[in-house]
Amino acid sequence: MHLYESKKGDRWVCAYCAQDEEEMIQDEGWKYLFDRDEQYLRCSICGEAEFIPED
Ligand SMILES: [Zn+2]
Repeated sequence: MHLYESKKGDRWVCAYCAQDEEEMIQDEGWKYLFDRDEQYLRCSICGEAEFIPED
């Protein structure tokens, strides 16, 4: 899950939405902060948890 800093606070965005919403993220000027792979995190766009493949 990617963490972005938006004007309305920090937003978690999954890899799929980060790709799908790339234009919006750039238009809105969201600043990429860091990545964290945790099952409890939910994407602020699609509401889903990050898919974490098991070894
Ligand atoms: Zn998502």
